[in-house]
Amino acid sequence: MQFSEILGHTLIVDNLRKMVDSGRIPHAVLFTERPGCGALTLALAAIQYLFCTDRKEGDSCGRCHPCNKVEKLIHPDLHFTFPTNTSVLVGKDKKSEIDDFYPLWRQAVLSDPYFNEQQLYKTLGIENKFGIISVSEASSIIRKLSLSSYEGGPKVMLIMFPERMNTEAANKLLKSLEEPQPDTYYFMISHNPGKILATILSRCRIIETGPIEESRLADALSARFGLQKEDAAFWARCSGGSYGKAVEMIEEGNENNDKYITFVTILESAVKKDLVSLFEIWEKVAGWGKEDQKSLCIEALEILRKTYMLGLGLDDISYTPRGEREKLKELSGKIRKDFYMKGYGFLNSAIEHIERNVNPKFIFCDLCNRIYYNV
Ligand SMILES: [Zn+2]
Repeated sequence: MQFSEILGHTLIVDNLRKMVDSGRIPHAVLFTERPGCGALTLALAAIQYLFCTDRKEGDSCGRCHPCNKVEKLIHPDLHFTFPTNTSVLVGKDKKSEIDDFYPLWRQAVLSDPYFNEQQLYKTLGIENKFGIISVSEASSIIRKLSLSSYEGGPKVMLIMFPERMNTEAANKLLKSLEEPQPDTYYFMISHNPGKILATILSRCRIIETGPIEESRLADALSARFGLQKEDAAFWARCSGGSYGKAVEMIEEGNENNDKYITFVTILESAVKKDLVSLFEIWEKVAGWGKEDQKSLCIEALEILRKTYMLGLGLDDISYTPRGEREKLKELSGKIRKDFYMKGYGFLNSAIEHIERNVNPKFIFCDLCNRIYYNV
């Protein structure tokens, strides 16, 4: 990945370039972002620039030996750590090591570096569980970085979703962060920095990767999907500057999106006081994987926001795709005005319970019940 391939983020690119040029790279850099805003692409471009032996005009050359290896994610001094769990695609019978996941990890990054956590888990074959970075993984990070550099240059560890380290693992890693070794760097990418230990955060240079500039994002979407200018601009706005989210919305088409349909059906059934239909839905959702359940709740928060705004007549700034407008507008006429705030509360506590591994049957039975009585 070269700087020239990055979508937007000109200021961050300038800063990364200066950091490498001046030789003053922080020992640990943490990129934070809402999923899909390109933090991983920034980290990979900075790493390639760092390894490149023939930098030109403020960018890596893309042709030298190290560039080639970083681009294919096979540079021996570039290591990766990411959350894993037991996987249907990797060594079913034994406990898998992170290295066993490398081919799938490469596939995920090379095909779409804008992935969200759920999409990564799907590629790794662990989609029904949350991934974890365990203490043995933290030890292996430290071991890998303690080896001398294969190619005589810098050593880099890229950690995706460090928020998935448990406390024991985080404490182990902290020791390594506190004792920096020469020419050894950590690059981390988090979608949920609030869950990272404060002592780790305080050791990192934090780079907040905001939304991608709307016009730049619209151009990229238009090039990829052959969209008209107006449509591309619409999706860029709807996605809140996330390339990953925009692609997901365009590819799925929200009218066919399972989660969209599921939550709209929950609202409709609650409005109609149709308990049988609600019962069927919560039974179905309780059988889904955790990440899918969580993303249902996140989609539901979005649906509530859109419905609320449509109800106020704020159609243009509700960023609701054309295919959803009529249905949500109709629903907004049937939902009690005081339901929205309560609904947000119900959904956020459902998300919290999913994260805490509460039995999903209880979570969704409770959620549907509350919606039924309050809508
Ligand atoms: Zn190069």
